[in-house]
Amino acid sequence: MAENAKSLASSALKGERVTLEARVVKVSKSELRRQLSLKLRTQESFLIASLDGDAIGEDKWQEAQLLTPESIVRIGGHIYASPGEEAISDKGVTNGHAEAVLDATHTIYVDDLIIIAKASPNLPTFRRDELFALGLEERLNNRILDVRHGASGAIFKLHSGMCQLIVEFLCSKGFHWVHTPRIITATITGDNEFFHLPYFGGDSWLAQSSQHHKQMALSMDMQRVFEIGPVFRAEVKSRASARHMTEFTVLDVGMVFQDEYHEVVSMIESMLVFVFRGLQERRQFRHLIETVKRFYPSTREFRIGLDEHGNVPRITFLEAKRILREELGFEAPDNKNFTDQEEAALGQYFRSSPKLGQTDVFTIDQFPASMRQFNSRANPDVPGLSNTWDTIVGGREICSGSERLNGYDEVRSAMRAGVCGPPLDPEADQWQPYLTAFKSGMPRHGGVGLGVNRLLQGFLGLDDVREVTLFPRDVNRLAP
Ligand code: ATP
Repeated sequence: MAENAKSLASSALKGERVTLEARVVKVSKSELRRQLSLKLRTQESFLIASLDGDAIGEDKWQEAQLLTPESIVRIGGHIYASPGEEAISDKGVTNGHAEAVLDATHTIYVDDLIIIAKASPNLPTFRRDELFALGLEERLNNRILDVRHGASGAIFKLHSGMCQLIVEFLCSKGFHWVHTPRIITATITGDNEFFHLPYFGGDSWLAQSSQHHKQMALSMDMQRVFEIGPVFRAEVKSRASARHMTEFTVLDVGMVFQDEYHEVVSMIESMLVFVFRGLQERRQFRHLIETVKRFYPSTREFRIGLDEHGNVPRITFLEAKRILREELGFEAPDNKNFTDQEEAALGQYFRSSPKLGQTDVFTIDQFPASMRQFNSRANPDVPGLSNTWDTIVGGREICSGSERLNGYDEVRSAMRAGVCGPPLDPEADQWQPYLTAFKSGMPRHGGVGLGVNRLLQGFLGLDDVREVTLFPRDVNRLAP
């Protein structure tokens, strides 16, 4: 429907004939004459259609009087502009303020009407300006109407744009798009965030990430791989958290490096800058961001601040903890991971500090080994630290990455050692397919898991990850 409106707006002049499809917003009947005024909505613009009973014929006139909000109509007619007004302008639609330009002063006199779909008269009323009063849960309960109205539709078009830009960047750097299974057998005993799935009389689980299969693909000499797909975690905290769901979309990236793991960190940071700039600079996305901004009070301009070498700023885990303690007044012990509040405070600190680039994106490098997975490589020079990192976007972690161990014996020792989490038995059947990738000779490599939902949430500055998830799943929600 938006396409119709765009072509209407860019080509139509007063007196010209147009045909378009739109949804009905409101029907007003003239008391005195056989006339109806329809307020119509395309995806991002409004217009008024004036229907004359004598012009459209008796049958259509009878049908038109029964039109309900949210019905879809196809109209044909001539554009009329009020005396003294210019014809509909292109600018009106492309800058997202079509309502102001098309509303009221511009009217289409309809001589042809086809009702494409009739909507029930009992639908809940969803007005753009009242969306926030309804609350997110109510909007999610009525997701179809919610996404038709306000900025939600723009958010999901941006989600699509973001994924396109990710793929564009990675493919231009020689990455191969792989698809790995969601039904798995290798889990970590005691990790109750795995969803169990009965499997033909046996057991299986739903994947929490693609990490192990992605590593196996690197052992197949794929060199650079990525995947965008759903993962599942039985997160009890999703009951109350604004950043956790039980099903979410992850971009998993793995690559072989030449000299050291910062090659992987830099690749992911460059990808993020490419994606953010693409969203901010490409016309079609800029216009969607403007639409979101007009409706969501919490959104703000996303800042990409780079350091003097043109890179995303980086600090170490220990330096971040020091800043939290000494400059931001947190307790922030070195032996605990960042809390949500600490991440948000660091986000604010980087955003407001000219010294740190006034940026909404930065990386925290060198986490303690005890906080990362068994297959992360320890820093060979600094006991206790590891070659692992998180990138923060808009004050929230959006990805965790690490250099992975590549030697067969060292992976088996790390499993037994249980530096983080319980020791694992490398002789157990469930681990043999994974360990075969190392037994066969694994190149040096690293990778990340990046939450796509959180990436968009952080970029737009929205409060809840469910806002940017078309059909969110959490402890309380399995529908729609
Ligand atoms: P957190 O500490 O926020 O729970 P995590 O350290 O468990 O995240 P990872 O296992 O590193 O997360 O997962 C990679 C990325 O996936 C995270 O950086 C985040 O963007 C996203 N992510 C993780 N858990 C969730 C979730 N429950 N809902 C939505 N996104 C998530």
